Amino acid sequence: MTTSETADYDVIVVGAGAAGVGVAITLRHAGIENYLVLDRHTVGASFAAWPAETRFITPSFPSNSIGMLDLNSIAIGVSPAYSLEVEHPTGQDYAAHLRGVAKFFELPIREGAAVQRIVRTDDVFQVELDGETLSAKHVIWAAGEFQYPLLAGFPGSELCRHTATVDSYEQMPGDDVIIIGGYESGIDAAYHLAYHDRSVRLFDAGCPWDQESSDPSVALSTYSMERIREEWFDEFVELYPDSPVTCVAKTDDGYEVTVGGEETFHTSVPPLLAGGFTGSHQMVADLFEQRDDGFPLLSENDESTKVPGIFLCGPAVRHQNHVFCFIYKYRQRFAVVAKAIATSLGLPAEQLESYRQWGMYLDDLSCCGEECATC
Ligand SMILES: Cc1cc2nc3c(=O)[nH]c(=O)nc-3n(C[C@H](O)[C@H](O)[C@H](O)COP(=O)(O)OP(=O)(O)OC[C@H]3O[C@@H](n4cnc5c(N)ncnc54)[C@H](O)[C@@H]3O)c2cc1C
Repeated sequence: MTTSETADYDVIVVGAGAAGVGVAITLRHAGIENYLVLDRHTVGASFAAWPAETRFITPSFPSNSIGMLDLNSIAIGVSPAYSLEVEHPTGQDYAAHLRGVAKFFELPIREGAAVQRIVRTDDVFQVELDGETLSAKHVIWAAGEFQYPLLAGFPGSELCRHTATVDSYEQMPGDDVIIIGGYESGIDAAYHLAYHDRSVRLFDAGCPWDQESSDPSVALSTYSMERIREEWFDEFVELYPDSPVTCVAKTDDGYEVTVGGEETFHTSVPPLLAGGFTGSHQMVADLFEQRDDGFPLLSENDESTKVPGIFLCGPAVRHQNHVFCFIYKYRQRFAVVAKAIATSLGLPAEQLESYRQWGMYLDDLSCCGEECATC
């Protein structure tokens, strides 16, 4: 039997994306040495799989020298603006950046290690891979959302294609494309398709391009608003607000899309789903209580309130109304998690105090979160 005294690792981090790599560096700064990062593919695999044209909406700028961390940085002293020399990196750019960062910090990462299940027995987590089980005193779940797209939602959604499966909008077949979902991914797809002279009709149940909020987790980013104002966007894209798609059906020569239960639209190629992600946290749903919105309920240290010792890192983190879906938001919780684990291991984690100066340590969750400048 494995007990917490004999666990293979103090911490296993699942996922080597922005969250997994970022929190792994923070573990090191907290004085934790016996840990391992597992990834079923490679470091930054989700970013590497973005459509070729898709770029970061949050700009990178080399502001670190005056104590303001690059918005897309995952660690103090690291700046994608500096290493990549671009303001809006592509997914492929950013994956290369993450690989460079992981190498620089000599992180203990095992690639090609797909976690199938996590079970807690006798104070220890059994992390089950294909044909092998590793044990750890703590687990940080950082397996992201991108590789777990939301494919359900209405009859016929299985006939659609998710934006997460598109290699390149330029190469995508079809001259008339219907997009379902008008937040960042949908607008991004429309922009690139229109740039290549495709007619686009975009349906959204609400009107994300007209939301009055200063929070980019709610309203479209300035980058996307600028794109909507491009001449070719106006020429090739029709935006349909307050138009929920209720059904997609196959016809002899394409697809019929029903909007609002009544009006129908025809397209020759599978409609493009830009409706978000179910998220990898579904894989460990049995280890967390759930909030009303389906996201894991977390303690003030982002630990499960049901099974102590397992933590969540990344865009699925929620506290009250705070939505930590961007890197510059969820990186503020790395040090909170690392500190909690270090404390449980009896380590002082003093170095983490410097994270506060860099806006990398948000432990005050008392504000409303709705229109909050801190988050
Ligand atoms: C198109 C698009 C544009 C975006 N633009 C921005 C932006 O401009 N700015 C911003 O801040 N955020 C942006 N985001 C959000 C940002 O990409 C995500 O927040 C980020 O990818 C999350 O990082 P992550 O490490 O949590 O997840 P991921 O990057 O998905 O990393 C998770 C890792 O876990 C691995 N993994 C998954 N399942 C398992 C398993 N079972 N076992 C082992 N390993 C596993 C995967 O291979 C992957 O490497 C964007 C997202 C998308 C989809």
